[in-house]
Amino acid sequence: MQRVLDRHGAVLAELADDGSLARPEALRGDIRRILLDSLPAGTVRWGRKLLEATPLGDGRHELTFADGSTAVSGLLVGADGTWSKVRPLLSDRKPAYAGVSYIDTYLHDVDERHPEAAEAVGNGAMYALVPGQGFLAHREAGDVIHTYVILNRPVEWFTAIDFADAGAARQRIAAEFEGWAPALISLITDGETRPILRAIHRLPDRHRWDRTPGVTLLGDAAHVTVPGGEGANLAMLDGAELGQAIAAHPDDPETACTTYEEVMFRRGEAEAIAARDTVELIFGAGAPHDLAELLNGTGRTSPGTRALPHTRQPSGNG
Ligand SMILES: Cc1cc2nc3c(=O)[nH]c(=O)nc-3n(C[C@H](O)[C@H](O)[C@H](O)COP(=O)(O)OP(=O)(O)OC[C@H]3O[C@@H](n4cnc5c(N)ncnc54)[C@H](O)[C@@H]3O)c2cc1C
Repeated sequence: MQRVLDRHGAVLAELADDGSLARPEALRGDIRRILLDSLPAGTVRWGRKLLEATPLGDGRHELTFADGSTAVSGLLVGADGTWSKVRPLLSDRKPAYAGVSYIDTYLHDVDERHPEAAEAVGNGAMYALVPGQGFLAHREAGDVIHTYVILNRPVEWFTAIDFADAGAARQRIAAEFEGWAPALISLITDGETRPILRAIHRLPDRHRWDRTPGVTLLGDAAHVTVPGGEGANLAMLDGAELGQAIAAHPDDPETACTTYEEVMFRRGEAEAIAARDTVELIFGAGAPHDLAELLNGTGRTSPGTRALPHTRQPSGNG
């Protein structure tokens, strides 16, 4: 179920799940567990934070970790998110602030303790919007509501807030929603976890590099953009396709990387443009009516063809 509300809490659109599982949703923790359980024990070395990768020639790199240890890579794949330490080996582009931030907050035992908020959010995803700001909340398993409070303010506006002082931070954010329905404001003010700031950063839509021996990127490290509902899917698809390319060219990592990058570059660019379109649809000048029309089937795009960002994938972004 997805619903769109105006700032007063009136429901403008509601779309029930079609039951087809064509676009199944999953909690990030569940996906992570499934992927990790599929690997031989010991494949992932926890606690090894990469500080630096230094080219040694012939495609090899020396990796220096925060615990002081080092390793030499044959093929280095930077899957290390928005602030990738591997990316500078390939590209001098840095993610730039996208002009919007998300604040993460949770309510627990919602039916019992937060019935008004539970009623406003419903059983699935809820978007309460005006242009440039709003709430994106999701009812999760275990009687939990996970909310992103979204505000398009300069990054300095957020850094002036002391998020370590959770109560004061909540009040400061809530003040930007004066006149909104109390059930919506309670998603901030009743928050039971420390509000977490996620300043959204993005690379240029077209982010490519020349083939550089022994190193490539995937996921947000390669093409982080605004949350358009596909970032986790893209990261997993990149990883799967790179794996297939390596399996097809086990003795030739350069051909494997070229094959992988040709497809990944085109897809990353197309998806970055689509993600910006999605964010414009949700939070642009036409909010909340553009999204409501989409869900009501009276807009230009069918809801079945579009992914929407949910609160189920907390991000490495920001
Ligand atoms: C608010 C918000 C909502 C979103 N909603 C959705 C959604 O609904 N659907 C969707 O598909 N996507 C969504 N996304 C995007 C999605 O979260 C990302 O695109 C996705 O997580 C990218 O995966 P990744 O593996 O490339 O990077 P990450 O998930 O960032 O993972 C990178 C990993 O690298 C590790 N790492 C980082 N630096 C180092 C280092 N120096 N040394 C060692 N390890 C390191 C990190 O600990 C982390 O485990 C959303 C993003 C945001 C910000």
